[in-house]
Amino acid sequence: MVREFAEKEIAPIAQELDDKEEFSYNLTKRMGELGLFGLFVHEEYGGGNLGYIFYIIAVEEIARIDGSQAATLAAANSLGIAPIYYYGNEEQKQAWLPDLCKGKTLASFGLTEPNAGSDAGASRTTGVLEGDHWIINGSKIFITNSTTDMSKVCVVQAVTGKREDGRNELSCILVPNSTPGFTTETMHGKMVWRASDTGELHFTDCKVPKENLLGRRGDGFHQMLATLDGGRLSIAAMGLGGAQGAFELALKYAKQREQFGRRIGAFQVNAFKLADMATEIEMARLLLYKACWLCEKNRAFSKEAAMSKMFCSEMYHRVANQAVQLYGGYGLMKENAVERHYRNQKLLDIGEGTSEIQRIVIARHIGVPGKAL
Ligand SMILES: Cc1cc2nc3c(=O)[nH]c(=O)nc-3n(C[C@H](O)[C@H](O)[C@H](O)COP(=O)(O)OP(=O)(O)OC[C@H]3O[C@@H](n4cnc5c(N)ncnc54)[C@H](O)[C@@H]3O)c2cc1C
Repeated sequence: MVREFAEKEIAPIAQELDDKEEFSYNLTKRMGELGLFGLFVHEEYGGGNLGYIFYIIAVEEIARIDGSQAATLAAANSLGIAPIYYYGNEEQKQAWLPDLCKGKTLASFGLTEPNAGSDAGASRTTGVLEGDHWIINGSKIFITNSTTDMSKVCVVQAVTGKREDGRNELSCILVPNSTPGFTTETMHGKMVWRASDTGELHFTDCKVPKENLLGRRGDGFHQMLATLDGGRLSIAAMGLGGAQGAFELALKYAKQREQFGRRIGAFQVNAFKLADMATEIEMARLLLYKACWLCEKNRAFSKEAAMSKMFCSEMYHRVANQAVQLYGGYGLMKENAVERHYRNQKLLDIGEGTSEIQRIVIARHIGVPGKAL
């Protein structure tokens, strides 16, 4: 169903949306109608109750056609819905999840700040409890799904005090987009995911009820790390699906294009490239599905999530590069979707923890010693 939707409804307009840097309300609404938001959320909150593998395959299929729409879907689920679903109290879940799961509204995840990227614990945004309210001041950058007309709430990580060990206490607070003092600015000029929404957020004496705290005070860093573990599976799915899409285009082209009187795929060097691409995609799929399986079984999956994210992203990089190579000059033209794959893959090496950060996470898990980690 998702493949058919992506081929019939996304593919024909993906490049135009990319050119115009246009977020598509219609496609987002359609993904909602197809039940793609909240696939892993229990039915009582309006979700599909289907588990993580179904969700990941949905992202993979959308990414096979277009990275921007996959980004909207993956961020909405893994960064918007997931923290509310896993850490929200009953009232918060009832208040936000039904509309988020229908795809009527979007939630965003406000972690990254101008000075706190990879070092996400270095947040400077503050949340001060005054009476019955949190007063939030600060800013966030690069926040997906945060500035559309459908964007209704942001999960904001803020410094809410000092811990006993002298480090900052971090908490997550739900801040509705309609709150006075909360302003957003859409970021334009991205090389990647041009039809997905990315925003800069500013909080100036932004006042929200103390009940908007997500989970327990001081749990923000832990919630953020766990949210990113899940998010990494969806980024990996974008790498896998994108690579599959680029590979299929390259294979088709290699069977059609003739030079020196032969189809270019018949030259052994190109046939071997295609064989390598197919093999890498298969390896990536097995690694990612194993990580999803561990996640579904409630077993530890941080290491496998980091491995999948890193491997699928870097594999997409290699596959998209070879796909463009097989297309020759035509691969550099926007009329061919491989050009979009070539650009979109780059985000995956950077978002939700760069490849360097994934290697740090993996090195920690396998017990590599050293302060640099
Ligand atoms: C389109 C887009 C959408 C995004 N969506 C969201 C979102 O919804 N929510 C959100 O919170 N954030 C979001 N982000 C932010 C993203 O997660 C950050 O860009 C990413 O974590 C990297 O942070 P940075 O850009 O500040 O790079 P930096 O952290 O400044 O990194 C710069 C370079 O230094 C390297 N580096 C940093 N520290 C180390 C180290 N210890 N060891 C070795 N190398 C290191 C990095 O790997 C990188 O190569 C988004 C970003 C983009 C571009």
